[in-house]
Amino acid sequence: MMYHYIRDPGDAAEAGSGIPGMSVQVFESQLDELSKQYTFVTWPDVRMALDAVKPLPSSACLLTFDDGVRDHYLNAYRILRHRNLSGLFFALDRLENDGFVLAHKIHFLLAKLGLAGLREAIWEELNPAQREHFTRAEKQYQLKYPPISMDRRINLLKAVLQRDLSTEVDPLLSDLFERHVGPEKEMARAYYLNAVQIREMTAGGMHFGGHSRNHPWFDWIDAETRTAEIKASANWLQQFEAGPWAFAYPYGGLSDDSPRILKEHGFLAAFTTQTQLRHSDPYFIGRLDGEEMAQDGVIYD
Ligand SMILES: [Zn+2]
Repeated sequence: MMYHYIRDPGDAAEAGSGIPGMSVQVFESQLDELSKQYTFVTWPDVRMALDAVKPLPSSACLLTFDDGVRDHYLNAYRILRHRNLSGLFFALDRLENDGFVLAHKIHFLLAKLGLAGLREAIWEELNPAQREHFTRAEKQYQLKYPPISMDRRINLLKAVLQRDLSTEVDPLLSDLFERHVGPEKEMARAYYLNAVQIREMTAGGMHFGGHSRNHPWFDWIDAETRTAEIKASANWLQQFEAGPWAFAYPYGGLSDDSPRILKEHGFLAAFTTQTQLRHSDPYFIGRLDGEEMAQDGVIYD
């Protein structure tokens, strides 16, 4: 299972940002449902199975959480500890003054400005060459992913910003963040899990894996940058738990050389965002999106 934000409007995780997530109650009832059909396992259980030490039960379910946001300490960990369950948390290796990754700046700004408002605010800041680049990228994605719904239109803008124009718009989004949302660096420090929270979580039976430092699309960057991102995760994880570790590809972006680079840096497994129930490659383990399943009212069996 894969989870991101777990929060209720106005709670300490959401903190008035307007960024939606899976509600605490829906998360709890999904755990109730899953527990009827599956046996919850931990990352060490999966690791032992991959090392052929001990097989997994036939209906094993691993709970994973991406991005290392405070929701995971404030809400997920509290619930898991209470139920005596473990989770695998893929956190970002953010440095003190790094601020937010691009994806999270977009979340805040979308909540504040809306889709049309954000697009317009960005457009106003682009120079003619960048505007041309933007339009070209947008047209490409429109052909590939016809914007038939609001979600699709949001994903289309995200694709342009997170891939084609990521270098140009990253600093620009920081300016917009300061103008429309608040002090970015200060807010980011409180938004991502800190070392104290992570240590408390690991002491409480939680496990951590890598999710890169800057959250890029792995198919969009070069091999050198991929290696640097994976290396950053390995160095960062060392302070919290012994390897070998697991990794989750940012945005689920894949590249052929990732398994080799991951293996070289102490990672034994990697998780994608592809919906998949049976797995044959330890570096491409698919996941089910808990929030989407809850919205669709689906329980997979
Ligand atoms: Zn992520």
